[in-house]
Amino acid sequence: MAEVLLKGAAHVLTMDDAGHEHAGCDILIRDGIIAAVGPDLTTTGQKIAVDGCVVTPGLINTHHHLYQTLTRAVPGGQDALLFGWLQTLYPIWARFGPEDMFVSTQTGLIELALSGCTTTSDHLYLYPNGARLDDTIAAAAEVGLRFHPTRGSMSIGVSDGGLPPDTLVEAEAAILDDCIRVVDAFHDPSPGAMVRVGLAPCSPFSVSRDLMRETALLACDKGVMLHTHLAENAQDVAYSLEKFGCRPGQYAQDLGWTGDDVWHAHCVMLDAVEIDLFARTRTGVAHCPCSNCRLGSGIAPVRAMLDAGVQVGLGVDGSASNDAANLIGEARQAMLLQRVAQGADAMSARAALRLATRGGAQVLGRDDVGQIVPGMRADLAVWDVSGIESAGSWDPAALVLAGPTRVRDLFVEGRGVVRDGRVTTVDSDAVIARQNRLARRLADRL
Ligand SMILES: [Zn+2]
Repeated sequence: MAEVLLKGAAHVLTMDDAGHEHAGCDILIRDGIIAAVGPDLTTTGQKIAVDGCVVTPGLINTHHHLYQTLTRAVPGGQDALLFGWLQTLYPIWARFGPEDMFVSTQTGLIELALSGCTTTSDHLYLYPNGARLDDTIAAAAEVGLRFHPTRGSMSIGVSDGGLPPDTLVEAEAAILDDCIRVVDAFHDPSPGAMVRVGLAPCSPFSVSRDLMRETALLACDKGVMLHTHLAENAQDVAYSLEKFGCRPGQYAQDLGWTGDDVWHAHCVMLDAVEIDLFARTRTGVAHCPCSNCRLGSGIAPVRAMLDAGVQVGLGVDGSASNDAANLIGEARQAMLLQRVAQGADAMSARAALRLATRGGAQVLGRDDVGQIVPGMRADLAVWDVSGIESAGSWDPAALVLAGPTRVRDLFVEGRGVVRDGRVTTVDSDAVIARQNRLARRLADRL
């Protein structure tokens, strides 16, 4: 029986149902599961001193395109709106292959881990030059984060009136066959699963109505979740009204894309009727405030969503539209953006952290992570609040107001994936060097 005892935390934010917090608290981990939370715990196993630290549940990222870490800050896309931004980047992404997918995924996962993330989803919707979802799953297994990869897709290229180049789209029958393959090969429905696969056509403007419907039926049949982009900006809504004759929420509902096994990224433009639909059907939302700011998409009505009972998690979105992927930073941005729209009492620091933990767990359908409670998986973020960023703070646990933006330690299933500010599972310097080499190679080929 492997035990690890985190001893003497200055403050523990449990994020349990009642929002309990404890000062001077220990956390006992046994076989990857939280065994006890309280003062004066003992073990014959490993002891790790966490005095001077705030401990939170590991943060949960509900939307990302990890491959995009290879196309951060591309000059032609830096100031473009969504559709123009996509058209700048598609030709670069068309040159990706398996190694690009693997290394960019590791880069993104390391960045997430350092920012407190223990579980992340990923939305990979293009598979050029032999790239497969498998490349990202192999990358995540090495880094050691809990991973929810989604098999994305695009099927309507330029010649069919779509946005992506024809070289980046796939035949719909081949997409569905590969969805079945990756679910059968990798999806683990059991408690504590390290890999859960979802199905995720890129967006209503890059696949057909048929593929949206067929994917929803397949996901239901396989017992996996559905994910896509929805109502991201005004252009997106205008496209839906013009092409489909309805708003995005109606389109989603008509094609089987609502329910507690579905989550949509962005939803910046949801109206009151759509918010009510999402609340009633327990459809999840991945709120991506930095990306929404970066692309000038607008302010998602998160306060109204939460008041209506919509399940909302946070997402850093792809690194090409963020361009960073710091999840605790994303929680701060979520708080700030609601305050811009609604005033200073629109979202508290703790409410933002709750979105980043419990909110994400709900959205991804996980009842085994997101809170520090005995019986939950031991996914924990340890924040050292003895440093400069917290110096003078009267409430160090209000981490998104003042505090470190990198963890000291990160535990996933009780395993120390980050210790003393360094990833332990892979050689991050080697990953950075390899990533920069690949980025230069892509730039040279343009
Ligand atoms: Zn996205």
